[in-house]
Amino acid sequence: MEVLLLGTGSADGWPNAWCRCASCTWARETGTLRSTTAALVDGVLLGDCGPDAPRQADRAGVSLADVRVLLLTHAHPDHLAPEALLSRSWAGSATTLRVLGPRSAVDACRDWVGPHDPVSLEVVEPGDVVALDGYVVRPLAAAHDVGRDVLTRDALLYDITAPDGGRLLHATDTGPIGDATIAALTDASYDVVLLEESFGHRLDHGTGHLDLATFPAQVAALRAVGAVVDGTDVVAVHLSHHNPRGDELARILEPWGARVVDDLTVLSTGRPRALVPRPRRQLVLGGARSGKSHEAERRMLARPSVRYVATGGERPDDAEWRARVAAHRDRRPAAWQTLETLDVAGALAAATAEDSVLVDCVALWLAGRLDAARVWDSEPGRPGRAESLAAVARDCDELVAAVAATTAHVVLVSNEVGAGVVPEHESGRLYRDQLGVLNRRLAEVCDDVDLVVAGRVVRL
Ligand SMILES: [Zn+2]
Ligand SMILES: [Zn+2]
Repeated sequence: MEVLLLGTGSADGWPNAWCRCASCTWARETGTLRSTTAALVDGVLLGDCGPDAPRQADRAGVSLADVRVLLLTHAHPDHLAPEALLSRSWAGSATTLRVLGPRSAVDACRDWVGPHDPVSLEVVEPGDVVALDGYVVRPLAAAHDVGRDVLTRDALLYDITAPDGGRLLHATDTGPIGDATIAALTDASYDVVLLEESFGHRLDHGTGHLDLATFPAQVAALRAVGAVVDGTDVVAVHLSHHNPRGDELARILEPWGARVVDDLTVLSTGRPRALVPRPRRQLVLGGARSGKSHEAERRMLARPSVRYVATGGERPDDAEWRARVAAHRDRRPAAWQTLETLDVAGALAAATAEDSVLVDCVALWLAGRLDAARVWDSEPGRPGRAESLAAVARDCDELVAAVAATTAHVVLVSNEVGAGVVPEHESGRLYRDQLGVLNRRLAEVCDDVDLVVAGRVVRL
């Protein structure tokens, strides 16, 4: 199966021609222009035909003359510009084009088809299984409807299996997909999933679309039923300027096992795609309020079985601390398992290759180990200090060894505290030095080390 992405943009495309936001400016300056989303499968099966699709085929150097099946997801004008059927008739094609779609989309085509045009209009519904020249197509219910628009009520997704066995999920437009549809995708093991991600960082859109909060949850749901598997090429489509600039978007999608590609990219099944290496151990550093915890949590959103290791302790007398912990807990997915412990090495040893462990954070863990070793009870140079520091050193050795040995996917959060002025007190200097050394040792055994500054991520 070969899938030519004629477009990967939202209804308004990306950039939006009327906009000068940073995202649109980046797209313009780099020439990363995305037109309305449509996919041509093996040159014979077209998934949606919005206003840009025919011209995009020209730009790709292919003709639509061999298209025998047009699959319409819904009647929104970025997915269906039915005048294409009229221009097809001017080319005098003798082969019949089967147009399949929900009733609202098929009805929108009727005025554009002449009585003798070789076009067959067919209404399909979720649950149908349609055989088309060796392809098997299953329409599925999308979740594009938010109750305001008759054109979204019967919107469909398509599960397409090619004669060569290649399998594609064409999933646009949709919000979080309903349970019945997810269940219908059990064990699909898709080669390619085209999954819409319209709204990027904008979460208040109130539409039947996905964004950067719901997209990873959707990938996780598809993974949980075996629809997305390790080799699945998950490509985010229907992208709008509410997304961060393309390089940042790619960086956000990568830990979720998803990617963006340019318009006119060809996705081939049957050949293993060049997988971006998925690091197993990541260290995320940053200053206070830099966004490091948020970044670490986001990397876990599409992963099954996440264990969140909180190292801050209970602190029942500290209202500010309790409020901070509650805010962190509220934004974590409910399915995550939280472990409040300083035994990070034990938590890592107990995790399997199927698990993902997020440790937040190493700096608090170190403070806890220094407290437990009673380092602060002894004066420098006095009896007891050397033994206390030796105990902390053993704890650090154990942690570094556990990170190096784990088979789980691990993200460690730690503070970068060495850049400010020299702390006034001996305790501050000791803590700064201990944490600096520990961060450096953890970096040596991690696959990736990133520094978060002002919410931006710098790979080190
Ligand atoms: Zn759309
Ligand atoms: Zn739509």
